[in-house]
Amino acid sequence: MSKHYPLLQSFGALLVLDAESRRIQATSANLATLAGLGASSPPITLEQLLGRRLTQQVRCELQGQPRLAAPLVFSRGANRSLHFQLRAYRSGEHVLMELEPFRMDGQHRLLGALHEHLSRLAETTHQEELLAYLVTTVRTLTGFTRVAVCQFDPDWHGHIVAEAKADDECSIAGQRLAARDFPVALRRAYVRHPVRYIQDAQAPVGPLTPGDLSVDLSASVLRAPTFERQRYLERLGVRGMLNVSMICETGLWGVLFCHATAAHEVTAAVRDAVHILVQAATERLSLLRARHEARYLKRVQDSLASSMNTQQSPRGPEQLLLDQAATWMTLFRAQGVALWHAGGVYQAGKTPAPEVISQMVIRLRQAHPHNGPWCTRNTAKHSLTSSLAMPEQAGVMAIPLSMGHAQRAWLFFFRLTPCPVLHWSVRPVSAVALPVSGTLPTAWYEEVTGCSEAWQRVERLAAMSLGRDLTLAISSYEISMLNMHLERERKALASANQRLEQLAHFDPLTQIWNRYRIEQAIDDELVAAKRYGATFALLMFDVDHFKAINDTYGHSLGDEVLVALARRVESSLRGCDYFGRWGGEEFVILATHSDIQAAAGLAERLRELLVTLQLPGLDQPVTVSIGVVAWQPDDSCKTLMARADAAMYLAKRKGRNRVEVAAGEAARVKG
Ligand code: GH3
Ligand code: MG
Ligand code: MG
Repeated sequence: MSKHYPLLQSFGALLVLDAESRRIQATSANLATLAGLGASSPPITLEQLLGRRLTQQVRCELQGQPRLAAPLVFSRGANRSLHFQLRAYRSGEHVLMELEPFRMDGQHRLLGALHEHLSRLAETTHQEELLAYLVTTVRTLTGFTRVAVCQFDPDWHGHIVAEAKADDECSIAGQRLAARDFPVALRRAYVRHPVRYIQDAQAPVGPLTPGDLSVDLSASVLRAPTFERQRYLERLGVRGMLNVSMICETGLWGVLFCHATAAHEVTAAVRDAVHILVQAATERLSLLRARHEARYLKRVQDSLASSMNTQQSPRGPEQLLLDQAATWMTLFRAQGVALWHAGGVYQAGKTPAPEVISQMVIRLRQAHPHNGPWCTRNTAKHSLTSSLAMPEQAGVMAIPLSMGHAQRAWLFFFRLTPCPVLHWSVRPVSAVALPVSGTLPTAWYEEVTGCSEAWQRVERLAAMSLGRDLTLAISSYEISMLNMHLERERKALASANQRLEQLAHFDPLTQIWNRYRIEQAIDDELVAAKRYGATFALLMFDVDHFKAINDTYGHSLGDEVLVALARRVESSLRGCDYFGRWGGEEFVILATHSDIQAAAGLAERLRELLVTLQLPGLDQPVTVSIGVVAWQPDDSCKTLMARADAAMYLAKRKGRNRVEVAAGEAARVKG
């Protein structure tokens, strides 16, 4: 109803004009007295009030504009001794003009002081320092009994974070103001009209005349307090007040309020100065907060990075959590932390039981498909957690970690119920009073239970960033685990292959090449000989009367003879000769780059060498019969072996323990 029958404070006068500022449609009742118009009876004209020149100027400046760029100052009365400040702005279809007495003295000092205060504000480096300077300065400028800054929390409870006051006033620093004292309509008004001034809440207020004009006065500094507001201020023991909203880029941050126990005059110029100071302070506050948040985010990011850098091998989810739990709990002001990953729960501090955490994960999967963190500060009241056994944990923040393939791990932070005693100012009339001594008769306190501290925006941001880093850390651990597994498999395969190669190419008793492998080597050598003419020779030998050795000394000693013979032959060959077991007690030597002459020489040396072979328990020499053959063009492995075999049997026939060169090649052997 105040829109239709507005009441006005009397420290200034109000004029309502038409949109062209031609006709005065209504004025406050005090206009004539305040402006010194004497007996001149309404209706008056703007020219009568401002003079022709100023009237022209105002109309001109307002054309197409919502307001005058700056207040105008003019003089009236005998010797022009009365000075006024004029503000003009549009409100709906009307132009409103506000007239306030103006004092010339102190103007220059005020400007100088404002400049100084602004520079000092810009030098502050902490929120506490900044706000302390602001309230002290505003109190000095305005002379109010108390100047305080009330910051809003996410639930719109106010918190007195800075205060400057007269010595005999009790302090309300640290106290809370209940959210119900800041209904949404009031908060909107704070944003729309950042400066609210009530010179004297108990002074008589006057109407507009004529009173039936429908005009919106909500933007007017002269607007009188509502009856409820008057009652509220009365309960606080406040008569004069000035409120300036602190609005940052995220909206209403708080309110600077100034209270006086008596009527208190603050000139328009000082109010403007306070408004400028508060705006500058709020901007600086945003900057300091942004810097503080950036540092905080960096600390959160560094926490994991340091752990990952210092560790040689990547750490698994459990190790990562145990390494960082203490740091993270401090950074996120939590008393418990847990990590749910692939069905496993790792935890530190005061957390609910693992099965409760798993249950929460199942519910979050359904209820929270988004990437951001999920938070509550009152688990007992939230539908997702109310039926879970979390007697101690009032606050939970759950951060999803996207591990790919729609798989999500979860990082949880838990806050216990803090059970703080909150001191409230301005208790509602109906509540039971628990008076706190001091000059505020309405101060009260209560215990807050079941509710943890709120999860701040920057904490949620930091949690998201931590979630991303943790996802990377866990993924890189999993990849390294997978690689380790693959490496193990690869090694197992290589050793299996090696065993297979051993089986395929080596004789298990003597550990020299088997027949298959020596045949391969002969085939390779045949190819090389055909292509490059690289001659080679073959020696085939068989142990003489080996059956008798077996029969006399046993099969096992027979085995030992074969092994010892193989070792001795092997150690007396060149690196480029190949040696294999052809079968039974028959052996083959492939002598590369050798002609028949060299091969016969080698055969003779071997024969002589083997005669000297001695073994414990063996009372007779080991002799061999050797057939020697050299490569000839058109030889195949088969023809070559057949000739070698024939030469060897010739040696047997000729009495054993001797060397025979294949028929037709003997002529080439000298000596
Ligand atoms: P010769 O002088 O004519 O070569 O007479 P020999 O007794 O050596 O010939 P024979 O072929 O009659 O006998 C070979 C024997 O070698 C028969 C076989 O039992 C034995 N033998 C074959 N392989 C092995 C083996 O791995 N270990 C042992 N201990 N004996 C083997
Ligand atoms: Mg034999
Ligand atoms: Mg034999």
